[in-house]
Amino acid sequence: MSAAPYDIARVRGDFPILSRQVNGRPLAYLDSAASTQRPRAVLAAVEHYETHVHANVHRGVHTLSQLATDAFEAARERVRRYLNAASTHEIIFVRGATEAINLVAQSWGRMSLKTGDEIVISSLEHHANIVPWQMACEATGAKLVVAPINERGELQFEAYVALLGPRTRLVAMTHVSNALGTVLPVAQIIAAARERGIPTLIDGAQAVAHEAVDVQALGCDFYAFSSHKLYGPTGLGVLYGREALLEKMPPWQGGGDMIRTVSFEKSTWNDLPYKFEAGTPHISGAVGLAAAMDYVESLGLAQIAAHERSLLAQATESLSAIPGIRLHGTAAHKAGVLSFTLAGVHPHDLGTILDHEGVAIRAGHHCAMPLMELLGLPATARASFGCYSNAQDVIQLTEAVHKAREVFG
Ligand code: PLP
Repeated sequence: MSAAPYDIARVRGDFPILSRQVNGRPLAYLDSAASTQRPRAVLAAVEHYETHVHANVHRGVHTLSQLATDAFEAARERVRRYLNAASTHEIIFVRGATEAINLVAQSWGRMSLKTGDEIVISSLEHHANIVPWQMACEATGAKLVVAPINERGELQFEAYVALLGPRTRLVAMTHVSNALGTVLPVAQIIAAARERGIPTLIDGAQAVAHEAVDVQALGCDFYAFSSHKLYGPTGLGVLYGREALLEKMPPWQGGGDMIRTVSFEKSTWNDLPYKFEAGTPHISGAVGLAAAMDYVESLGLAQIAAHERSLLAQATESLSAIPGIRLHGTAAHKAGVLSFTLAGVHPHDLGTILDHEGVAIRAGHHCAMPLMELLGLPATARASFGCYSNAQDVIQLTEAVHKAREVFG
């Protein structure tokens, strides 16, 4: 949206938490793939809602309930625009990407899967896009089929296409790998599935904050993401689903809001999207997410992506120059994620030493244990960037890794 030059100092000024110190050092927050920080605009929108507007939605005739409902439904329309979905009926508020995928696995999966059916995922998936399918497979007799990656951490596209067969019922793949940063060619992945009449689910948890997503242009059937990785509040996420498919799917949770009528004998279901939103939703979260989307678009997704690419290049160069460092995931098309190991130092120890230096990174299996096993690694250290990350963060990271080398000699 914005074509203004990327003013990183101004962007950092929008995030109050970045001015705090950690362990007596300036904070270098390099864990945005786990959760992003929130700009003032999001904090203010949530505070305004909680202070002046809050009541329960959809049920009240009183003024505050109507205002809260308006705010919640305006947030849904904001999300629709962000994803360029055709209708707000296709935007379902859930707790996060994890719940979005579980919704599809439970509702669509139990409706559609039979013994011998196949669901194709990739080796790069987060547990959130593995385990719900395993549970659906267990319940229905379907099985998971895993598309391979190459040594750079890229999907082997031809091998993926070769897996699509008469038993394939769904392709469920990540847009961006949280562990390696690989950006998958989702448009081609979806097109190959659609040519064969196979529906697709894209796990966009790591993508929505880094590139513009147009679900109609992509042609996917489902797209899932979490607000807290998009500069919004925790405890909220979105499932986009194609209306025609959502119409056919049964509800997966019962309770208030998702019903039209209830008697002790039988209940009937509400219209979309409410059929999939049982109980009181995270209203202030939705308000905050809408503000986060305004914020991100005011910076410009293309500008954010270009900024993060330059930091990735800087970090790749400076870390590669450290003896004993190995980078994991060297795909040609990567988002702002750098996974690495340092010879002789366990990633958890590395994470602890970096924390002493004020550098926040993640160490572990990144909820991608099958991928780590494939790479022959128990864990990696992972630095990840957001719109507010800067060159100084990368310098502080590099110096802290040098220090870790000295400590472990
Ligand atoms: N998918 C990917 C690729 C992720 O990186 C994550 C979180 O790290 C998730 C799904 C799950 O997100 P959440 O825990 O917000 O539901």
